[in-house]
Amino acid sequence: MKILPDIQAIHKEMTEWRHRIHMHPETAFEEFQTSDFVAEKLESFGLEVHRGLAKTGVVGTLKSGTGNRAIGLRADMDALDLQELNEFDHRSQIDGKMHGCGHDGHTVMLLGAAKYLAESKNFDGTIQFIFQPAEENVAGGRVMISDGLFDLFPVDSVYGMHNMPGFEEGQFAVRKGPLMASADFFEATIVGSGGHGAFPHQTIDPIVVACEVVGAWQKIVSRNVDPLKSAVVTVGEFHGGNTGNVIPEQVTLSGTTRSFDPDVQDMIEKNMKQILNGICDAYGAKAEFKYERRYAATVNSPDETDEAIATAQELVGVAAVDTDTVPVMGAEDFSWMLKERPGCYIMIANGAGEGSCHIHNPNYDFNDRILPLGASYWARLAERILSTEAS
Ligand SMILES: [Zn+2]
Ligand SMILES: [Zn+2]
Repeated sequence: MKILPDIQAIHKEMTEWRHRIHMHPETAFEEFQTSDFVAEKLESFGLEVHRGLAKTGVVGTLKSGTGNRAIGLRADMDALDLQELNEFDHRSQIDGKMHGCGHDGHTVMLLGAAKYLAESKNFDGTIQFIFQPAEENVAGGRVMISDGLFDLFPVDSVYGMHNMPGFEEGQFAVRKGPLMASADFFEATIVGSGGHGAFPHQTIDPIVVACEVVGAWQKIVSRNVDPLKSAVVTVGEFHGGNTGNVIPEQVTLSGTTRSFDPDVQDMIEKNMKQILNGICDAYGAKAEFKYERRYAATVNSPDETDEAIATAQELVGVAAVDTDTVPVMGAEDFSWMLKERPGCYIMIANGAGEGSCHIHNPNYDFNDRILPLGASYWARLAERILSTEAS
């Protein structure tokens, strides 16, 4: 493995940073200590630092040479609302909050690269180091875009990375095209007419109507989506009634849909609404429907993915980079940055086997051994794209 020696030399320092962040997990838009730490580090490396995008976001700008090419490298900083079960010294000090997705490691890998690149400056152009809040649940990446991220910090392309347990450390996985699904969220309210459970003929029973709706929605995936494409319609909440002998006034249903293809996404939204209104009409109930497109599909562009693959292969060898990994139905708000600029999102292995558990598990921990590899990936990717020879 070809870890950059100057990055290997700061492995211990990066591990200390990671443990410090892990001990103080902060969730969506409240990454105050974390963003202070990131901003202080970037300033100490000599970067120009901008704060306040999406409330707690931090952008560090590093320039070298005279070229006007620019790239963005992005890490997420937020933790989860999850009680950590680990008992090691660097476990979370905050009840009910935990870095259970490894964003502490993502932050540190990018900081390590910033330190190295600020010292070596072996590139020509501008690197924007983007540290974003609130990746989990509320799509802080989208807020950074609407707050003007790429107007204030123009880039030609943008890159992201996530750790992934379940494959051997020293490996990467990526693919051109869709890598992760869009995640939309919906809420339907079905208003009937309540009454006595023994006199259903005097009511419009919203529970019976809602059951029909849930069943019919499932047929969107089986009957309306091209069988060679993928989608999910999940009703995760079904609320109505609170006692056995009363037919309630209304039922609310909420859940999530996933897809990769914008046409499929449009069709799902349209058909869900049509089915809901049609069934409610048939039974004389009224319907309200809210549908939010919270996470776009994460779609890697071809040329930028080639750069990412070449960088990863240079570090770990051709065989250790899965260049056609299977897409997943999970979602990622880096997608909003990829909608604005071409780029690539890559998975770095967090390790497999004993002691390894999946992200969002209360026993998960980011693997400190991969910090220098992740930082080297960022550094070499920047040096490759902003090569001094090509300018
Ligand atoms: Zn997560
Ligand atoms: Zn994550």
